[in-house]
Amino acid sequence: MNSPPSPITLSERLNQVREQIQQAEIKYGRTPGSVNLVAVSKRHPLSAISEAVEAGQLTFGENFVQESLEKITLLGNRSLKWHFIGHLQSNKSNEVAHHFDWVHTIDREKIARRLSGQRPEAMKPMNICIQVNLDQEPNKSGVTPEEVPDLAERIAGLPRLRLRGLMALPAANTLFQQQRLTFARLRELNQNLADRGIITDTLSMGMTSDLEAAIAEGATHVRVGTAIFGPRPPKTD
Ligand SMILES: *Cc1c(COP(=O)(O)O)cnc(C)c1O
Repeated sequence: MNSPPSPITLSERLNQVREQIQQAEIKYGRTPGSVNLVAVSKRHPLSAISEAVEAGQLTFGENFVQESLEKITLLGNRSLKWHFIGHLQSNKSNEVAHHFDWVHTIDREKIARRLSGQRPEAMKPMNICIQVNLDQEPNKSGVTPEEVPDLAERIAGLPRLRLRGLMALPAANTLFQQQRLTFARLRELNQNLADRGIITDTLSMGMTSDLEAAIAEGATHVRVGTAIFGPRPPKTD
């Protein structure tokens, strides 16, 4: 595959990703505009987020509670939407309940109950995706495919949460057809929920290296970091 020369500015990179999404929507018969771009800003500085905001990006994904709270507070921009996409520990759920619009990584009932209980009345219900560990990789979070329906039913019954769909973070695979097969499994799990009367509208799947395959299989939210912000600075904590 020939990739064009790397563009210089963040806004050019962002436009390139937008273009890639639009092209994939056309190519795979998706409704134009049906794929939302979540810009994953973890470990990138506030200045990079501000640059993306200036270029019209309003939806961001963050993985670490402390880091993201600082960014959200310092930016103080109420038109931004924040998606929590990291592993959520029980003792951090309260902050997430107060500052985020979405959590993509729910994999147990306990944390869902806490979030529902902690979600302020003045805010809209928290949008929730269940994270699925499609290949049952031992080091990864997420429920098994078999556990999805039961957890979905329990979350659907929680008053301050709104179950939106499923999320996956599959093992890296460079083969397009293999990427598609994996994402197709998440789509089918979502369809199984619909067959049981649990209607969702979200498939959170696809990152820098596999977003086109994800869009081909029905992604509604792609979570893209590197292609927008460049390589992540090393961990400092
Ligand atoms: C870091 C991260 C991403 C973004 O990955 P890139 O390869 O940089 O696009 C997407 N989803 C999750 C859950 C992540 O942790």
